[in-house]
Amino acid sequence: MTATTLIDPAPSEASARKESLVGLSRQALAERLAVLGVPERQRRMRVSQLWSWMYVRGVTDFARMTDIAAGLRAELAAHYTLARPAIVTEQVSVDGTRKWLLRLDDGKEIETVYIPEEDRGTLCISSQVGCTLTCSFCHTGTQRLVRNLTPGEIVGQIMLARDRIGDWPGAVPPDPRGLPDTERKITNVVLMGMGEPLYNFDNVRDACAIASDGEGLSISKRRITLSTSGVVPEIPRWGEEAGTMLAISLHAVRDELRNELVPINKKWPLAELLKACRAYPGLSNAKRITFEYVMLKGVNDSVEDAKALVRLLAKIPAKINLIPFNPWPGAPYECSDWEQIEKFAEVVNRAGYASPVRSPRGRDIMAACGQLKSASIKQRASEHLAAPA
Ligand code: SAH
Ligand code: SF4
Repeated sequence: MTATTLIDPAPSEASARKESLVGLSRQALAERLAVLGVPERQRRMRVSQLWSWMYVRGVTDFARMTDIAAGLRAELAAHYTLARPAIVTEQVSVDGTRKWLLRLDDGKEIETVYIPEEDRGTLCISSQVGCTLTCSFCHTGTQRLVRNLTPGEIVGQIMLARDRIGDWPGAVPPDPRGLPDTERKITNVVLMGMGEPLYNFDNVRDACAIASDGEGLSISKRRITLSTSGVVPEIPRWGEEAGTMLAISLHAVRDELRNELVPINKKWPLAELLKACRAYPGLSNAKRITFEYVMLKGVNDSVEDAKALVRLLAKIPAKINLIPFNPWPGAPYECSDWEQIEKFAEVVNRAGYASPVRSPRGRDIMAACGQLKSASIKQRASEHLAAPA
């Protein structure tokens, strides 16, 4: 494991900073250009040029935008930046997983995780600082400070990851360990980091529109997955307005237990959740909903639970992801024994779901599901202890 530390300016200085253009819509970019005096008839073209430099080439410096007149480049640089969230630490796991602790302009921190495999690379991004929900097995839910991320902070995570793994045309990865054998190093994006993305609907939708824009980052909506704990009324709206793939944090097959594990279930119980899933637009065998199920020893991991799970999902085009519980300090659960996970998986397999167990990645850097924030809090604590009086 390696960690680099790049501590950023204090929030007071940061608030005086120039605005980053990352995450603005085309319309908003045109407005910024208007402020700089770009005539209306030129704006659409200038926006396209900017868009392409930002999202196809990944440039971080206006000076490199060689098809834009030098005067305008200077004006842009005087008023705006192309900044991504600042990296506080970067950790690389023995398995090639990377985790970045990022500091936002107001000093709040989030985490982004990159998981390379042979034939794909998945970026797991955050949608909020912390989470207002309190799922009992999730460490993010114990964090009190919560705010929504802006579209720029969401798209910025993709940009920054591409910077750090050299995933722009002509770029060389600074640390090539474990990177996939694909042309693009980030092939998939999952909204499975910190936060409940459907509680930050508009910003996450706008960020996904930028990420999937065919003249920019070009990550197809089929390769973007939003994971929700079950904000039922927003599911149909997400289907209509964003239309990405969907994952549901199910974790229990009975309301009584799900109320405990995923308390939002008290508001929108299983029957309503599954009804919204069945109605999700465009479902087919090629476009399935992923159901996530965290394996908690003696809580939800019996063979009966497995059978009930299969029955519950019978008429929905579904994938099942069994997630070994990732422990965090003070967690009230243990991960199911491997033998039990195998028994559970066998029932699920026999029902026709392929290899449902997600292998935990980046555990050595606390980058696995539900562990986000743990290590940085610990690190903060040790910094406190080490700080001079
Ligand atoms: N808030 C959204 C997305 C972020 S959580 C949601 O809940 O779906 C991403 C996934 O990690 C969810 O499926 C969540 O249930 C799972 N998760 C949370 N804590 C975990 C833990 N300690 N071990 C394993 N998976 C966990
Ligand atoms: Fe929030 Fe998801 Fe964690 Fe639940 S599992 S507390 S919804 S981040």
